[in-house]
Amino acid sequence: MLNSRYFASKLIRANLKLLFVFFLFSYASLIFCYLSYCFPRHEDSQKYKKLRYKMVNQQIAARDIYNQKVLQAMRDVPRHLFVPERRKKSAYGDFPLPIGYGQTISQPYIVALMTDLLKPEKDDIALEVGTGSGYQAAVLSKIVKKIYTVEIITPLGKAAEKRVNELGYKNITVRIGDGYFGWEQYAPFDCIIVTAASDHIPPPLVKQLKNGGKMAIPVGKPFHVQKLMVVEKSEKGEIRIKNILPVRFVPLRRIQR
Ligand code: SAH
Repeated sequence: MLNSRYFASKLIRANLKLLFVFFLFSYASLIFCYLSYCFPRHEDSQKYKKLRYKMVNQQIAARDIYNQKVLQAMRDVPRHLFVPERRKKSAYGDFPLPIGYGQTISQPYIVALMTDLLKPEKDDIALEVGTGSGYQAAVLSKIVKKIYTVEIITPLGKAAEKRVNELGYKNITVRIGDGYFGWEQYAPFDCIIVTAASDHIPPPLVKQLKNGGKMAIPVGKPFHVQKLMVVEKSEKGEIRIKNILPVRFVPLRRIQR
């Protein structure tokens, strides 16, 4: 009797030791994984931050963008997280990049220029047509109160929605649909930005522009050089159109109604 009790307690002690060693191991490996996950990521984000600041200095501030709000937004938004994994290294280059489905994320300078042309203010409600990766929306969202953005290609729109949510951009709402018709429910808008080229300025967008508001839009034939235009609606509702510079955008597609 005594002997069996002695053996039982020895067994329990041995098992407890084993359990202790097991937990110690698990704990140590958890800490190891955490550290190896955190440190390279930190180095990574520092590396991209440097590239981003360089991009703003050399490609944007050195050209003709002086609006500090725009420059800061371009410094803040991690462009490399909006491009496909294999394009990350070239995310801060002075050129557009493919984002899948035949679409592109605009060159950083064009994103900054279009944002600047809208003269956005902190209380503004904005509309974007052509969400793509969500990058332009993220940049604008740093300046305005709220941005509604419409994307016609479902997987692109869904991915952009997930991305902006995960990155914590709380003032961006994405919808899948044909942005040619704007977003009536939230109109009128202080700013409208169209990031795909149309052969004419869509009348529904002009209608949804607030008096005193501005719209930036590339106008021209698809797969040709287009004109980047700014449509201004005066306080009295009069329309004035300014021609800014030649650009090349992917075409504004249409859903047959
Ligand atoms: N602003 C995006 C890039 C735009 S590329 C970014 O920052 O990444 C142009 C986008 O417009 C593409 O994703 C394309 O699918 C979308 N698009 C084209 N026609 C559209 C339409 N009628 N309505 C909404 N989105 C449209």
